[in-house]
Amino acid sequence: MTARRVASIPHAVKRAVVAHARREAPKECCGFLIGTGARVDLAVPMSNVDPRPHTGFQIDPSEHIAVRRVIRQVLPNAGIVGVYHSHPSGPAAPSPRDIAEAHYPDWIFLICGRAGRVVRAYRIRRGMATPVAIRWRPAERPRRKR
Ligand SMILES: [Zn+2]
Repeated sequence: MTARRVASIPHAVKRAVVAHARREAPKECCGFLIGTGARVDLAVPMSNVDPRPHTGFQIDPSEHIAVRRVIRQVLPNAGIVGVYHSHPSGPAAPSPRDIAEAHYPDWIFLICGRAGRVVRAYRIRRGMATPVAIRWRPAERPRRKR
């Protein structure tokens, strides 16, 4: 079992997740966190195909396959390191269903609660959710090659 690590997430990812949550409200939004280990570099919005999207989320399986393919092609050293979703009127904490349906013990589960006012991270292992501290990184200057 790995030690608890601090998740490093850019402010831009938080802004993107909160904006997505607000766009989808009162439905839950969802998406993947792409990066390496506990370092998140970007958030990719996915469609919530849950039949009851106001109280749960299910990432569109075909989009899941497509995003994995794109990552392999353009970011071979990165991967899906977590998933984000929103609780439009609930707290930024995993619901019993989130815990029951979490099958990736190393993933970061980022939850945007209460209309985007709170964003928290967890790891969910063996039916237990543990809070993960977040270090919000400032924007990095893009390095351009011409
Ligand atoms: Zn949830």
